[in-house]
Amino acid sequence: LAQLFRPLDLLGMVYRTIRQGVIDMGAMFDLIDTPAEVVDAPGAPALVIGPGHLRFESVHFGYEPEREILKGIDLDVPAGSTLAIVGPSGAGKSTIARLLYRFYDLTGGRITVDGQDIAAVQQASLRAQVGIVPQDTVLFNDTVSYNIAYGREGATEEEVATAARGAAIAGFIERQPDGYATRVGERGLKLSGGEKQRVAIARTLLKNPPILILDEATSALDSRTEAEIMDTLEAIERGRTTLVIAHRLSTIVHADQIVVLDAGRVAERGTHAELLRRGGLYAEMWARQAAERDEALAAE
Ligand code: ATP
Repeated sequence: LAQLFRPLDLLGMVYRTIRQGVIDMGAMFDLIDTPAEVVDAPGAPALVIGPGHLRFESVHFGYEPEREILKGIDLDVPAGSTLAIVGPSGAGKSTIARLLYRFYDLTGGRITVDGQDIAAVQQASLRAQVGIVPQDTVLFNDTVSYNIAYGREGATEEEVATAARGAAIAGFIERQPDGYATRVGERGLKLSGGEKQRVAIARTLLKNPPILILDEATSALDSRTEAEIMDTLEAIERGRTTLVIAHRLSTIVHADQIVVLDAGRVAERGTHAELLRRGGLYAEMWARQAAERDEALAAE
């Protein structure tokens, strides 16, 4: 019977989520596999956002009760700083991002934003403060302007253009015969992965959230596209508390803190230089990726 109700639950959730108007579709496709219903506590207050200080305190979580995925995670991300999470596939990196967006409730510990437990505040008020640039942005079958303006209801054309400039996609858009009225998506102009990501970045610049989750694409990009995207990502991270889920270590060299996650635990933490000196898991991953990068460069 529970099986029967699942699709209805999902529909209800999608409907409510769209109504809240605070989540972008890309995030929904990327971060939700099987959404569990998270309910606001009766009379929960709205999150009072301050500078955006983020903490994970002894966080435990499993999608199923018999299989714990996160086994006591402590993170402290000072307001405006960047924390990068790296680690092998399946270590629990995306799960951390999903929990910050409160797609699921924890089984132990707590996550706070500016000292407030995110489980005790209204979800909509939390999600309004968190922007997500997903791995692969799904665009609406509509104009590029609509796709950017989705970041904030009631945005003006000028604001859309400013966001597009900030995301380094304005030039590309202006070169199209229809400019901002160019239709994109499945039935419109096909954008490359990098272009789609820049649309997502423009959307997020419009939303202007104090907290940001960047879910870096797993697929290898050519080095020019990667360099372009890194520039725009740096622009968007400035002044925001940022959590980066990184697959390519070359993109997070300048992160304030790097956490190496392994099988649901923090195996190492520090800056890039500290972790290299340590000669552990991170140093090993770095050496491996550097070798791969050299090979790829030689092939380009
Ligand atoms: P990758 O680098 O491959 O994206 P990751 O470190 O982000 O991996 P997660 O996506 O957080 O890993 O997944 C951690 C573990 O949780 C994996 O073993 C995965 O199979 C499991 N998992 C993820 N989503 C679900 C889900 N919706 N239901 C059950 N198990 C899940």
